[in-house]
Amino acid sequence: MQDLMQKITSLCKRRGFIFPSSEIYGGFGSCYDYGPLGVEMKNNIKRAWWKEMTQLKENIVGLDSAVLMSPKVWQASGHLTAGFADELVECKGCHKRFRLDELKQKKCPECGGELTKPRKFNLMMKTFVGPVEDEAATTYLRAETCQGIYVNFLNVLSTTRQKVPFGICQIGKSFRNEITPGNFIYRTREFEQMELQWFCHPKEAEKYFEFWLKERINWYLNLGIKKSNLRAKEVPKKDLPHYAKRAVDIEYKFPFGWKEIEGVHNRGDWDLLNHSKHSGQDLRYFDEEKKEKYFPYIIETSAGVDRSFLTFFVDAYQEIKGGRTKTTKATKEIEVLLKLHKAISPIKVAVLPLVRNKPELVKKAKEVYKLIKPHFPSQYDELGSIGRRYRRQDEVGTIASVTCDFQTLKDDTVTLRERDSMKQIRVEISKLKEIIQKILEGEEFLKLGKIVK
Ligand code: ATP
Repeated sequence: MQDLMQKITSLCKRRGFIFPSSEIYGGFGSCYDYGPLGVEMKNNIKRAWWKEMTQLKENIVGLDSAVLMSPKVWQASGHLTAGFADELVECKGCHKRFRLDELKQKKCPECGGELTKPRKFNLMMKTFVGPVEDEAATTYLRAETCQGIYVNFLNVLSTTRQKVPFGICQIGKSFRNEITPGNFIYRTREFEQMELQWFCHPKEAEKYFEFWLKERINWYLNLGIKKSNLRAKEVPKKDLPHYAKRAVDIEYKFPFGWKEIEGVHNRGDWDLLNHSKHSGQDLRYFDEEKKEKYFPYIIETSAGVDRSFLTFFVDAYQEIKGGRTKTTKATKEIEVLLKLHKAISPIKVAVLPLVRNKPELVKKAKEVYKLIKPHFPSQYDELGSIGRRYRRQDEVGTIASVTCDFQTLKDDTVTLRERDSMKQIRVEISKLKEIIQKILEGEEFLKLGKIVK
């Protein structure tokens, strides 16, 4: 199965989804850059999440807080104490370090050497603010986006007139000095999170926990993730993070096993209470109607953008031996189809001239491309045979391909090919934009034009 990860990693690199960071200098420890297709897909994931969590929901507003915050925030949150530390052991022979919870044996997995006693290792990334690198200038790159939400709790309350229950959403970068990064973009030291913090009455916390867990699982399913590859796993009490009263991991079945992609947590009053204590500001909520003052409980849904990216990619990846085409003889070649959901696909439309040695066809195809490009993320491609070009588009998940052929020159119609069925319809150029829009909205493809036999 690791073989599959290698294929996915190499497809990501070859087609411009993801590059190793600082590659010309030999790379840089588990850091990755998102290429031209990757950034489109990543933005689509974030857009889909933001729309779902803010626009389509009641009482949820957004925020974009700074990565750098007062170090006092991290004192209050418990991240600077043992609460945010992994237990590590070191091999006395080769000096490699391993996470205790990941070790399956009592000896070094690399050289079989003897291991030291476990030691806590803090995951916060230290940095200095200002010109002097001393203790007073020390702060940290945030390890989770949610602390920026808690410290703005009063600001949001007073500027938006929200009443509990309500939520604040944020998407942004987080940093953790992970000891064992790996599995491509699954575990990195710099990553992006999409988090909702839902503030509610303590008595309603369990009810909302269940609600948000279901919502979040449905988000993945509605974007095409196979149900059999998704599960919710209750975190045992002894393994709960320092801030949580209850936690459920949403897990995906990756080629390297079932792994967490999102955490749903009942953080109780941990954060608001501790920030009140440390800042001296009263972060309790006053319910005007009930004349009750209390610390709202927080239900958090915390998803990783990069882990979602990998989830969508792995779930969509298909290999078809001999190819899908029935009209030509099957060869031994393996065809790749990236069956991404329409909302997630980086490119929606490809515009292709049937052949590239006919200037009138190329000219026409470029005109069509110009017409479509402002409305949908599109690509123009004239390289190689038309069959190869279709396959190149299937490999990156392009939803539909428009081909300009000789008939186009006569009657201003083009063929539209759908990625998943490979079926083709003939449509007028003047209606192309409207029809592509309908395809993206999920209308039945074959009803949108004249079927090409
Ligand atoms: P893990 O047990 O895998 O280290 P976690 O339980 O520490 O994860 P949380 O603190 O709950 O993770 O963070 C919420 C989400 O943020 C995770 O579900 C994941 O999607 C993402 N995330 C956390 N750490 C990383 C990382 N090092 N690389 C990529 N994404 C991450």
